[in-house]
Amino acid sequence: MKKPPLIFTNVILFIVLTLIAVVGTPLWAISYGFDWFEIGVTIFLFYFTGMCITAGYHRLWSHKTYDANPIVRVILAIGGAMTVQNSILHWSSDHRIHHRHVDVNDKDPYSAKKGFWFSHMGWMLREYQAARYDDYSNCKDLQKDKIVMWQHNHYVPIVLASNFGLTAFLGWLNGDILGMMLLAGVTRIVLVHHVTFFINSLAHIWGSRPYTDANTARDNGILAFFTFGEGYHNYHHIFEYDYRNGIKWWQFDPTKWLIKGLSFVGLTKNLRTCPEERIEKAKLAMQLKYAQDRAISLPNADEIKAKIQAEYELVQQKMSEFYATKKRIMALRKKNLQLSYEKLELDFKYKELKNALKIQQEKWQSMYNFYLEPQTT
Ligand SMILES: [Zn+2]
Ligand SMILES: [Zn+2]
Repeated sequence: MKKPPLIFTNVILFIVLTLIAVVGTPLWAISYGFDWFEIGVTIFLFYFTGMCITAGYHRLWSHKTYDANPIVRVILAIGGAMTVQNSILHWSSDHRIHHRHVDVNDKDPYSAKKGFWFSHMGWMLREYQAARYDDYSNCKDLQKDKIVMWQHNHYVPIVLASNFGLTAFLGWLNGDILGMMLLAGVTRIVLVHHVTFFINSLAHIWGSRPYTDANTARDNGILAFFTFGEGYHNYHHIFEYDYRNGIKWWQFDPTKWLIKGLSFVGLTKNLRTCPEERIEKAKLAMQLKYAQDRAISLPNADEIKAKIQAEYELVQQKMSEFYATKKRIMALRKKNLQLSYEKLELDFKYKELKNALKIQQEKWQSMYNFYLEPQTT
């Protein structure tokens, strides 16, 4: 099949930025060197602009996982533009299609099924999306957002002023305009580009699928480290309205910490999370699937499969009982019935169910580990 024509603006932009970053910047480093101020500004802008994409473009605007104060939204809009990844409106429109039609080659704009290169950068180099380029019908909510539309309508001036203006000013303060523009401007843009692009490419290829295997998205702690927490992409694709990607407290997700941190000072609110019961049940269902798949190859498959199914049903039942009681306790807490008999009885039942679930989960886990190695790819 004939490939669509190249988008010369994008091709030239990527070539020039890459050449400056991989040839110009090292040559400058050898000839003149970079000082700690320039390196510090680059690291700061790398995290700041990168997280404007993850916290802003992605979790705030594309998925509406929380609400933010207008000042925060303006900062996220400008910082996001500094990464040169198109406007919020365009980015979110593409991303919503990606979620809706994930892995469907002629619909998902960066379908991972079309290979690493296509999902990483190839999709931006040719007119694959020409038919729907200006179609923002899946972002009607964003079209009502004044900050989104301001950024969309003045995208190029904002990109130029924020990138060149800021880095030239900081370079002037430091006595080396060009050095600062090379490192904190262009090189930082290229680095943020690739870590963002990795979420569309590597995060759909490399890692485990603990929550769903309905699509190619993977959970990967290493990738999360380089992508401001977005490496927990398997979780994200099943529970996209959750403001977190790494749901455990220890999972590296600085975007989640930023959003939560801002909520303590009232700058973000209505942080949405998926109910724990749904998360645990999705994980359990996947374990069942992996275990059953592996059991097929064992000699007494039918017997093992029946045993696994029975244990699974027991855990699931204990989970339902536990979470139902938890829900009732929460409702009582809201009514503030601290010392009622009902509350005492429920508290006792809650502890009992929690223990029973823990025992059943341990039994399930050891059986899962004993019979079957987790099949996670
Ligand atoms: Zn997403
Ligand atoms: Zn994805």
